[in-house]
Amino acid sequence: MKNIIIGNWKMNKTNSETIAFIKEVDKKCKKIDVVAGIAVPALNLETAVKHTKNLLVVAQNCHFEEKGAFTGEISAEMLKEIGVHHVIIGHSERRQMFNETDETVNKKLKKLLSLSMTPILCCGEELSVFEKKQTKKFVNDQLTKALKDITEEQVQKIIIAYEPIWAIGTGKSATNEIAETTIKNIRDHLASLYNQEVADQIAIQYGGSVKPENVKGILEQPNINGALVGGASLEPQMFLGLVK
Ligand code: 13P
Repeated sequence: MKNIIIGNWKMNKTNSETIAFIKEVDKKCKKIDVVAGIAVPALNLETAVKHTKNLLVVAQNCHFEEKGAFTGEISAEMLKEIGVHHVIIGHSERRQMFNETDETVNKKLKKLLSLSMTPILCCGEELSVFEKKQTKKFVNDQLTKALKDITEEQVQKIIIAYEPIWAIGTGKSATNEIAETTIKNIRDHLASLYNQEVADQIAIQYGGSVKPENVKGILEQPNINGALVGGASLEPQMFLGLVK
């Protein structure tokens, strides 16, 4: 499978800055070996869709309900109508700062899958869990809950992103060995929840201080199928350094 590299811009860039980035980057992503995408702020999604030919445009979140009294929220249906088909779900920042839980993550996955959209399901442990060597149990538990009642056919449409919280925005990426070990554990866990053939079909990304300098080593790992990149995805030349 092709590696999938997505820049998660978080709350960065205005509409005009988004257009400027796309003008500089999009045409250079025509003949590359990876699937490259940008997860832009919700307000800039429609603009991004209009200006991109090669980059995948990704949303950073959505609600699990179709419509209703949910001030400030955006539904998956709204995203789909403007041509956005990929949505990051359960990023640790949303879990920590906006009360996202394994249960809401599960509801959002089901909503997206019912609309034939692609969730990018984030998981990952805090430093204290890592230091207690409980990463495997913690991440497996997150995934078991997130994937509750999701069928074998549906799970193959999900992209998983393993992002250890201690590596996000810290400049301290997990070593290739740590990232590969945890992602292999995730794949084994998927095989136990479903079966090995299904587990082998699922793309699993690594995220946490990925930069042009360390991306190659990460992507060379046998179980890693891409990267979810924050800070290093904001600057056009750095982004190109990641995907080229
Ligand atoms: P950084 O690449 O800035 O560590 O962020 C990772 C991340 O949270 C991507 O979703």
